Amino acid sequence: MHVVPLPALADNYIWLLHDDAGNAIVVDPGEAAPALGALRERKLNLRAILLTHHHPDHTGGVAELLAYRQVPVYAPNDERIADATYRVNEGDSVVLESPVARFEVLAIPGHTTTHIAYAGEGLLLCGDTLFSLGCGRLFEGTPAQMLNSLDRLSALPGTTLVCCAHEYTASNGRFALTVEPDNAALHARLDQVATLRDAGKPSLPIALSAEWATNPFLRVDQAGVIAWCKQYDPSIHDRVGRFAALRAAKDAFRA
Ligand code: ZN
Ligand code: FE
Repeated sequence: MHVVPLPALADNYIWLLHDDAGNAIVVDPGEAAPALGALRERKLNLRAILLTHHHPDHTGGVAELLAYRQVPVYAPNDERIADATYRVNEGDSVVLESPVARFEVLAIPGHTTTHIAYAGEGLLLCGDTLFSLGCGRLFEGTPAQMLNSLDRLSALPGTTLVCCAHEYTASNGRFALTVEPDNAALHARLDQVATLRDAGKPSLPIALSAEWATNPFLRVDQAGVIAWCKQYDPSIHDRVGRFAALRAAKDAFRA
């Protein structure tokens, strides 16, 4: 499967997946134009649309894509998403014949209550839940929900390529450095990200194992993050508290 991040809107990625025969899947099309342009340029046939959550920067292009080609839309069970052929939830599988692909659906509340991820084909399509070096904001869920969701994503194989829906890596990294200033893997990743971004390339996808080593929100049980939390609020006594502190500090972080 070819995996292509298409820049869209201000800092979104629409993920385009396709096989060698030209059968394509589009994930989280916040607008239609980048997807239509890539499909035409690469001579691909759109076969399916996958959606992770209801936010307009992930769904805004669906109607125009369906006007271009009638394809099945897989979406969470949420009335705020109008165009859905199949409502999918925890335990469901998305099985496609062209391209041949199978994804397991994971319910991962936190950013929104009905957010889902698709895991399969060596990929994790995780919308706004897991970002490189960060995670999504808690618009609808609780810290305990989001931490549980991130724990589940983090339990996937380390070779999984994480396909996040935003290019937030560099700014997330500036916050991550304030938490773990001595994390050598984090410094190496930020050097890599700077090189990629300076060349106009996406920082994604990224192997999950790289996130294990660098993403503070996946590292709430690591000594460096525990030490940072003791400084931030000495009354924090458990991992949900550490996650909530990280998220609150990131929300307040400006750099
Ligand atoms: Zn969102
Ligand atoms: Fe988003």
